[in-house]
Amino acid sequence: RQSWMERLRAGLRRTGGSIASVFSATKIDEQLYEELEEALLLADAGVKATQFLLDDLKRRVKEARTTDPQAVRGLLIDALAELLSPLEKGLEVGRFTPTVMMVVGVNGAGKTTSIGKLTRHLADADQRVLLAAADTFRAAAREQLGVWADRAQVEIISQEGGDPAAVSFDAVNAGRARGADVVIADTAGRLPTQLHLMEELKKIKRVITKAQDGAPHEVLLVVDGNTGQNALNQVKAFDEALGLTGLIVTKLDGTAKGGVLAAIARERPVPVYFVGVGEKLEDLETFSAREFARALLE
Ligand code: GDP
Repeated sequence: RQSWMERLRAGLRRTGGSIASVFSATKIDEQLYEELEEALLLADAGVKATQFLLDDLKRRVKEARTTDPQAVRGLLIDALAELLSPLEKGLEVGRFTPTVMMVVGVNGAGKTTSIGKLTRHLADADQRVLLAAADTFRAAAREQLGVWADRAQVEIISQEGGDPAAVSFDAVNAGRARGADVVIADTAGRLPTQLHLMEELKKIKRVITKAQDGAPHEVLLVVDGNTGQNALNQVKAFDEALGLTGLIVTKLDGTAKGGVLAAIARERPVPVYFVGVGEKLEDLETFSAREFARALLE
């Protein structure tokens, strides 16, 4: 079994490959910086983060007084790791009983899978988890969540065609009554009309607060790391509507666009609690800025 770094590397290799070829230049000149700029944009770092990184890199090159293009690689890793470091923050549980999490994201992002992984991760840490299937629109989502709940041997509150806010409300109350450590509410990623998604999610959030003061303690967005600038736009939109506390960035095992994390760090630095690096329950990893920078650039 490959380590997550290996799988991340394999996914990023196409980008990494194009960046690596830049470092085989014979001298540090404007052309090298232009090629780097192109490679970072192709990796979906976005214009702002790319510009920031290049400026920072030039400063570091000057400071290091180096003329060796190979040395630029290490300096860019330093610059990227520093840019990404505010995203490095672990999910904390245990301060509230229960800790209530609301998980949001567009359909297909990997929300249901990520909740399964998160549940397993928490159950492994001896946390009593209760799941709420508040995506009452999609039968498949409810069923899939039920499968994850069985596998992780945790309880689930589910109601066919029920009101998502009511299911969440019941789940928080049940969690308190049953002494759960963590309640995780899965939400819809798309409504039949598509228009009212944010309103629906805001309503769920309000109702969760009614069930427990101060809750939800976490509002987590699941984004597909493969979708580049779209992922950044989703982070902005969900953050503005709901106030995000953390991200789970999925599918980084199969992407050439991992640079989007640099864009997120520069434009909307919501902490990355976990990254998804595969379809299995154990394919969830905590995010390390330096390891990520190395996987992208080494
Ligand atoms: P949802 O619609 O957001 O609930 O998305 P799902 O959880 O159903 O996931 C959509 C697809 O993405 C499924 O085929 C998952 O197996 C896949 N998927 C989810 N996370 C990852 C990941 O980290 N890596 C890979 N390669 N696939 C993933």
